[in-house]
Order: sequence, then structure tokens, then C-alpha cells
Amino acid sequence: MSVDLRLSGGTVATPSGSVEADLLVHGGKIAGLVSRDTPVEATTTVDVTGKHVLPGMVDVHVHTREPGYEHKENIETTSRQAAAGGVTTIFGMPNLNPPTTNVETLTDVFERYAKTSIVDWNHNPAPTQWDDIQAMADMGINAYKIYMVVDTGRTYPHPAGTGMHDHGHLLRMMDEIAKTGKRFIIHPHDQALMDYIEGEVLARGENTPQGYASAYAARSGVIWDTAIDVILRLSEAADCPIHIAHIQTKRSIEAVRRAKARGVDVTCEVNHWGPFLSTWDDVERLGPYALSYWVPDEGREAIWQGMRDGTIDMCSSDHAPHTREEKEVGWTEMWSAHTGTPGIQYYYPLLLDAVNKGQLTLERVVDLVATRPAASFGLAGLKGELTVGADADVVVADMASPWTITHDGVLSKIGWTCYDGREISARIDRTYVRGTEVFADGQVTGTPGHGRMAAANHGGN
Ligand SMILES: [Zn+2]
Repeated sequence: MSVDLRLSGGTVATPSGSVEADLLVHGGKIAGLVSRDTPVEATTTVDVTGKHVLPGMVDVHVHTREPGYEHKENIETTSRQAAAGGVTTIFGMPNLNPPTTNVETLTDVFERYAKTSIVDWNHNPAPTQWDDIQAMADMGINAYKIYMVVDTGRTYPHPAGTGMHDHGHLLRMMDEIAKTGKRFIIHPHDQALMDYIEGEVLARGENTPQGYASAYAARSGVIWDTAIDVILRLSEAADCPIHIAHIQTKRSIEAVRRAKARGVDVTCEVNHWGPFLSTWDDVERLGPYALSYWVPDEGREAIWQGMRDGTIDMCSSDHAPHTREEKEVGWTEMWSAHTGTPGIQYYYPLLLDAVNKGQLTLERVVDLVATRPAASFGLAGLKGELTVGADADVVVADMASPWTITHDGVLSKIGWTCYDGREISARIDRTYVRGTEVFADGQVTGTPGHGRMAAANHGGN
């Protein structure tokens, strides 16, 4: 027997736990796990003694900004950060220009990924054009995405065609999506409540990061909780699998826990800023550069608990880059600043650091970043786990290698990170996408266009 690649000497995270074994890769797939002394020839053998061999992250919530906002980012630069951050599959979002709402725009964006993405990819279009919902499913998507906001037709962040607040329309979307078997990602938000709450804050003259953060967190997060209650109920009414983006309040995490117990097919995600960048101190220090959602302590405790007990299914970056100019205005006019913050390059390392700090087990991190997102979005057995026959999307992590995140290391076009100066204890050494090295020893080595579409292995599901 001879294989393409042997990762030798590491501790491999498998679905049945960590094992001391060598990982074999052939033809882009995991070919086997063997003991150290098993004589299998390999074209390339990499010594990973003392390192952890983990599945690559499957990040279902990524804003590549292409097409339409390439001054912030593009698919290639996003995928370079992914490779460096141990992310082997990305799902893009539809708030682009033109917004991804039909077969034509989805075809265009697929062609862009195929040309320039280093890592594997898919894309979540908005289901606002009824006639194209099934047709887009047939093109191989794994999910749809809507912003639960009033569609005001503005350009950013919720371009025309990506927002839907009307409950009747949301139910109809769920009815249509249920027929496709795909999952429906929803950005929860209650605009009517927000209009009232914003009005109070702005009337006090608080058009500041602090005012913005306090508005979104007002009354224990009522704008999130009411929206999530509605979409959970609609999902039950339509029997439509849903995914809740950026969950952050204690009450909504409890609502998801109860819904799961009732058998509702709901998954939810937490973004990097939830556990790592959401204190009031972060809001004051980083101002518009933080999201700036403020998660009060009880929310952050609920996030960590939800990550530990599995109520929170997955960690997705919500990588959302903006230029410094687009952010700076927010110090005095926060409601004019572009909101969102980048993070795809650092989420996995931050979670590995959390393992070293005893906040999560390595098994939970693997499930949160890889196994569960893959399984929830139609990629079970193909992505997200190191089992024989699965794609060899592999990360080699050094759990004992302290380093400091700095602006200089950012591979995004925008050149800044909210984590500048943060010391962490673990790093990504190497990343492989279907057996091909795309990142090693601090350098992105993958080729644009290497990435392939990560589509469900059987149609309609
Ligand atoms: Zn987002």
C-alpha cells in the first residue's frame, strides 16, 4: 500500500475520541489511521509529533464581500484567511451587490468561488424570489439566508432582496424551503421594537458605540428574543429546518434548548465576538471596531454553557470586514458606521486557547467548528470529521505555542483586527484541503481555484 500523505506522530481527533496514530491521506480522502510502526509508504510524510490533528473548520457564515464590496474583501483574500485560520470550507452570504437572490446571481458567485477560492465553498442565497427557490436548491446549495429586517432598499448591510420581516412572508418562505429539504438561516431581529428603542437612545443624543451597544442589548435583549420566539414558532408551523445566526442572550439560548427538546429541527451558532469580544470594556475600548453588540455577563455565561452542553451547535465566524474609514465615523455617529467585524482567521485558534484555559474540551471544539456544522448543512460523512472516506480537510494544531495576534498578521484587505495585542496559547501549524496543503509554517501555500463546491452528497437533502 502506498498513499499520498502521512501525518506522522500526532494525536488524531476522531469521532470516537483522540487516538495516537498516523493519519493517511490518498486521493484527497482520509485513507486510514494506523499505528506508528505500520509500514505504509507515502509520497510525502510530515512529522507532526506532539501536535494535534483535527478536522478543518466548516464556517457557514462568511461575508466575502464579492461581488460588490471588493474594497473591503474578496473571495480570494477571505479564503487566504480561512486557510491560515484552519477553516477548510466557507459558506458565503447573500448581502452582496447584486444580492444573491436568484439563479443568475448564484451562478455568477459560484463562478467567482471556483476561480479564486483556496478552500472549499458554498453560498447561502436569499429566498426572496419564489420561482428560484427550488432551482437554487438544485444547483447544490446547502442553505438559504434571510435578514429578519424591514427591507428598506438601502445598499448595505441588508441590500434589497435580503431582508424580510413580515411574518406571513417568512412562513411562506419556510413552506417553500421545507420542500427543498435545505436549512434556513435567519438573522433574528425585531425592527418595530428596534425603531422604538433606537428612538429613545438617539433622543438622548447617544449616537455612540456605547449608545448603539446599549440599544441592541436593551431590556435583556428583547429585540433578539421576540424575533427568535417568532421564528421558532414559524419553523414548527412549517416543519422547516432553521438555523439561528449569532445567538447571544440567555433567554434565547434557553428557548432553543426547549425547542430542541420538543423536537424542532433548529440549530444555532455563536460568532467569535460572543465568547471573546463582547464585554462592556470591549465596547468602550474598541468602539465601532467591535461589532458593537454588547453581551452582558449573563448572556456570555449562557453562551459558554450552551457551547459546552451542545445547545449551541456551532461556531461560525460571521467574518464581516470593513475598512477603517467605514468604522472611524462610528466614534461620533455609530448609526452611520458599517457594523460587523472580521474574525475568520482567528476563531479556531481562540477556541483552542479556550481548551488550554479549561473553558471547553477539545472534543467540544471539534464538534462546534467541524462535525456539527457539516452534519447540519448536508455534509455529513463528507466534511467535518476525520473518518475513512471523508474529505481530507485537516488541521495540524500546536496546543503549546504562545503567540500574539497583531494587525501586521492580518491577511484581510482591511489590515486590522479587534484582537490586536491578544496573547493566545495555541496555533494552527498546517491546513490541508482535500489532502492538499494550503497553509504551512505561517504561509498560505494554497492556490486560488483549488477550492471546490461543498455540496450535499445526495440531491434534495
Ligand atoms: Zn453575517
